[in-house]
Amino acid sequence: MYVPSLNVRLSYRLSDGIHIDMVELDAIFSAISLISVHHISNPLIITDSLHAVTAFSRSSIFENSLVHICRDIVANIDTSITLLWVPSHIGLIDHNFVDELAKSALDFPSINRVVAFDLTGICVLLKDHYINLWNSSVPKLSAGRAYHTLFPNGRSSSENLKPRKKDTTITRLRFNNCRLNKYMHKIGLRTSSLCDTCNVSEDVAHFLFQCRKHASLTSLLQDAASAAKHSLSLALVLSQEPFLSIIYNYISVNNIAI
Ligand SMILES: [Zn+2]
Repeated sequence: MYVPSLNVRLSYRLSDGIHIDMVELDAIFSAISLISVHHISNPLIITDSLHAVTAFSRSSIFENSLVHICRDIVANIDTSITLLWVPSHIGLIDHNFVDELAKSALDFPSINRVVAFDLTGICVLLKDHYINLWNSSVPKLSAGRAYHTLFPNGRSSSENLKPRKKDTTITRLRFNNCRLNKYMHKIGLRTSSLCDTCNVSEDVAHFLFQCRKHASLTSLLQDAASAAKHSLSLALVLSQEPFLSIIYNYISVNNIAI
């Protein structure tokens, strides 16, 4: 933070893992606190964070708690504060200077300002933690590798497979935990792991891409891949539409137990 008229320069090394939006909000909070404590008149806060400016323009109880705290402080001081957004790196000398101040704080030996995480920040941290844990555990695991290959960063939270039976079917194929002979034989529920038609190991790749009995499914998948200018692969057909629907519809129409 830099106040040119008072030649005040403040830089903090914040808690690790804080989201950039939270960092920008915290800087505005610090500026408002400074204005309040030192009774600075006609204050203008310049920020390059559009997210922070729009957060103040909304009036939602779901907004970051720091926004509400800032509003409370502003409501209790005599002067009005102008918040101005400027695009970053457009050559404003003061703005560039404060950018350098912020960067210099990265070299501080320790954190000198602890920022409380909001709910979104905690969710991001937890997700990163478990993804890292998952990635580091995979070499030691005997199960789940096929799924990890498909989704090394976890399944997309926006994916919504409906009906539930579609979700179950696709998930079983992704986990290689389905009723194809290779997997049923592994748990002792089939006498052979081979495909009844082709007499080779009946795994997910065989079912989707090579089986003579399901050649029409392979053909549908191949056509869709060609139309999208992709090569046919397990990673492709088990991760996105329209492939997921093609597979599920084929399995449903032909009443195949997966
Ligand atoms: Zn076959």
